[in-house]
Order: sequence, then structure tokens, then C-alpha cells
Amino acid sequence: EEPTAPTTLTPPPPPPAHFVIVPLVAQGHTIPMVDLARLLAERGARVSLVTTPVNAARLRGVSDHAARAKLALDLVELPFPTDIDGLPPGIENIDQVKDNNHFVPLFEALQKLAGPLEAYLRGLPVRPSCVISDWCNAWTADVATRLGVPRLFFHGPSCFYSLCDLNAVDHGLHKQTAAAGDHDKFVVPGMPVHVEVTKATAPGFLNAPGWETFWNESLEAMRTADGAIVNTFLDLEDQFVTCYEAALGKPVWTLGPFCLVNRRDAEAMASRGNAPDVAKQSTVTAWLDGMDTASVVFVNFGSLARKLPKQLFEVGHGLEDSGVPFLWVVKDTEAETPDVHEWLEALETRTAGRGHVARGWVPQLAILSHRAVGGFVTHCGWNSLLESIAHGVPVVTWPHFADQFLNERLVVDVLGVGVPVGAAAPVMIFDDESVAVTRGDVARAVAELMGGGEEADERRRTAKEYGEKAHRAMEKGGSSYENLTQLVESFRRSGRKEG
Ligand code: UDP
Repeated sequence: EEPTAPTTLTPPPPPPAHFVIVPLVAQGHTIPMVDLARLLAERGARVSLVTTPVNAARLRGVSDHAARAKLALDLVELPFPTDIDGLPPGIENIDQVKDNNHFVPLFEALQKLAGPLEAYLRGLPVRPSCVISDWCNAWTADVATRLGVPRLFFHGPSCFYSLCDLNAVDHGLHKQTAAAGDHDKFVVPGMPVHVEVTKATAPGFLNAPGWETFWNESLEAMRTADGAIVNTFLDLEDQFVTCYEAALGKPVWTLGPFCLVNRRDAEAMASRGNAPDVAKQSTVTAWLDGMDTASVVFVNFGSLARKLPKQLFEVGHGLEDSGVPFLWVVKDTEAETPDVHEWLEALETRTAGRGHVARGWVPQLAILSHRAVGGFVTHCGWNSLLESIAHGVPVVTWPHFADQFLNERLVVDVLGVGVPVGAAAPVMIFDDESVAVTRGDVARAVAELMGGGEEADERRRTAKEYGEKAHRAMEKGGSSYENLTQLVESFRRSGRKEG
């Protein structure tokens, strides 16, 4: 009798990686991490996005969209702590804070999510492959360690900023500048290019009074993580990525620009951050449709910065005086009084045909990708800057706080795609009566950005080139695309069953 060949059993493929993503509850942090969640899910990974009830309500569109696209992306809702001194009920996001005294209690409340997060992770039948948490969520570090789950931190800003920040700490810049005045200049040590800051414009690492503990805990959580994920791409800032990786001593995964995950999906593009407002979307788009290609300057200052009437009016006058067509976004919280409403209406009447003031939240990504937009006045939040760069749109830089002053240095001095408005001192999120930037500054910078001449043309050419490189980075064979493949594969292999 013929011996029968032994049956060869092919081992089943390892299960797809499961990432648990824990964003900070602020639009500028959540939006890119939601994009990251989609990127991972589109590449076959399972993703759980952890948040709290108020924020989950805003993100419902994301999970519905993922379900329709058959992506393994679910929302996990942790109960929000109710017993926090000094925090009014219902505040679960930084953009809801209207009183400076509520920031610290909000961060205290977030730290208390460690218990519910641990309970959720322990309740899973199989341990997840990896926790990816915002660098501000240092409270996730101990949870991941206790469960033996690898942890990557997501660092929102550019590698240029992150490197400045890390070098300042490592070289003890804080001690050297302790006695210095706000406007004394310092060179950031250890940078491959010359970077000068003042104490006033580098609040991140030089002076964050009241936040020292939080800062130290965040640094420690970065040092103990297994690696970093950054929303940038190699062709934009490879020298800073390389130096940052060396300084950190662990892998840095550049996977951006994350916003381009939305590029083929108008609905996803319109609904980032908040539920889409169909009426507003079509008003803004219809207005842009009627304007010449690359003629309009778009003006928006992110999700947090709020201007008091005096400063708001300077912006409006500056746009009017520039003579350039503009689409200006004024937040609801900036236009609460009848005076401001009337003033804005009068401005719109005076600039009819070339000026449009949009109120509240707008679909920024859809606007930046519209052919009519030729420039962007931005507060230099990293998401806004990268969204602009990804769409080849040059910028007027008007940094307000945090990493924004250093982001300005990158786009103006290193990349050559920005015109500074000339902001020299930080303005806080609100309660700031000072007028940091005048109508003359706005008019000059906007006219320079949108006007003719060799420099302006060169800036536009460079921005367009970066936009093309950004798209290539996210396509098959591009650096961010291939990095993402590696990331997903490396965690698939380490997927383990709970013993
Ligand atoms: N954003 C938007 N519509 C708005 C205001 C902001 O879609 O009216 C989005 C913007 O596209 C970006 C994010 O909110 O993705 C803001 O992040 P950024 O880092 O620029 O600034 P922050 O809000 O953190 O200051």
C-alpha cells in the first residue's frame, strides 16, 4: 500500500493588528487621530477610538461613515468622571472651556479615565496589539504597562517643533533662561539649522507656569513609550525627523499628512471635527465656485483662539484694505454681541462681491482643497499648516500660542512658503485685551502673499511642489504609505492571545 503523504497544515494567518487610540479631547488633537484611525482601518487593522460621551456624540459621523465603508473602526465611550471640583458638568472638551480656571480641573478629570480605560482593555477577549495615545494623555502609560501592551505616543506638531522641544529640555535651556526677559533671544541648542526663540514665543518649553507637573509627566510618558507617531512626511522635514528619532532614541513613524485620507470622500472631508452642516457647506462652496482660481485668501484661526472685538475689527479692516477677495471665519463665541454682528454685516456690505464672512465651524479641508483658494491666513496650528501645505496653498503666519511660533519658523525660514504677519508675543485663548496685530500688518501680509512678483511666485511654486510631494507620500510606494504598511505588519506579527 502506498504511504499517504502527511497532510500539511498551513498555520492560520496572524490576526490583524488591533490599535486602541486615545486622543486628547481637543479638536486639534482629535481630528488628526480620527484620520489616523481611518488610515489604519483602511489598511486592514482593527481600531478602537476611545473617548467620552460628549465627544462621542460629535464623532458619531465618523463611526457611521466607517460602518458604511465596512471598516473595523468602533467608538469606545468611557464614562466621564462626575466628582471633579471646579469643573461645571457637561465640559468634556477643551473647546468648551470659557474660563481659564476650568483647564486644570478638566485635565484632572481626564486623568481619572485611567481606571475605566484599564477596565475596558481587561474586558477584551484578546489584548490589543498597541495603544496609541496623545502625548498629553500621560495617564495611559501606566495602564498600558500594567497590561503589557506596547504604547506609541502621538505627537501633534511637526518634528521640527518636537526636536526643538526635546533639545531645550535635554540641554537645560529652562535653567539658562530662568532669569531672562520675555523678549531676550535664545538659540535652540542641537538643531541642524539656526533657530532663534524668545521666552515669550516659546511658551511650550520655556514657560508654562502651573503646568510643570503635567509637562514632566508627559515628557516621562514619551521617554517610556515604544515609539512615536507624527503627522508629517519625510519630503517635508526629513532632517528634523532623523534628528528627532536620534534624540528620542526610539522609532518615529511619519505617516502624514493624515488629512489626505479624506481626499476621495467629500462627505468625510466636510464632516471632520463636527457634524457636517449641509446648508453652510453649500453656501461657502457656492461662494467659492463664483470666484476666480487661486484668487481668494482664506482666514481661519483654528478651534481655540478667540479674538475680542478690538482685535477682530483689525482683522476685518486689514482684509478690506488689502483689496484681496477673502473668506473669513468668525467663531460664534467671537460674535456674541449685536455690535459685532452689525459691524460684520457692514463690512460684508462694503466688500460685497469679494468678501464673505462665515460664522462658526466651517469645513476647512474642503475649503483648502477648493481651486479658488490661493492663500491662507493661519494661526499656525500644525493641522492647519499641514492641511494647507498638503493642498499646495502658501500661508500668512499669525501664531498665537503653544507650538505655533516654532511652526511659523519652519514654514517661513525653512520651507519658504509663508509670510509672517509679525506677531511677536503670544495671545492667550481668550481674555486678552491687547491688539497684537494691526490692520496694517494684515493688509501688508495678505497683499504680499496674494500679489505678484518674483518672491510671491516662488512661494506659490514651492507650496505647489510640497503639495504634490505630500500626495505622493500617501500613495502606494510613498514614504508615509510604506511606513504605515510596516507599522501595521509589525503589530500583526506581535498580536497575542491572552493566556
Ligand atoms: N477646523 C475646521 N473648521 C474650523 C476650524 C478648524 O475644520 O472652522 C479644523 C482644522 O481643519 C484643523 C483643526 O480644526 O484640522 C484645528 O487644528 P490646528 O492644529 O490647526 O489648531 P488648534 O485648533 O489646535 O489651535
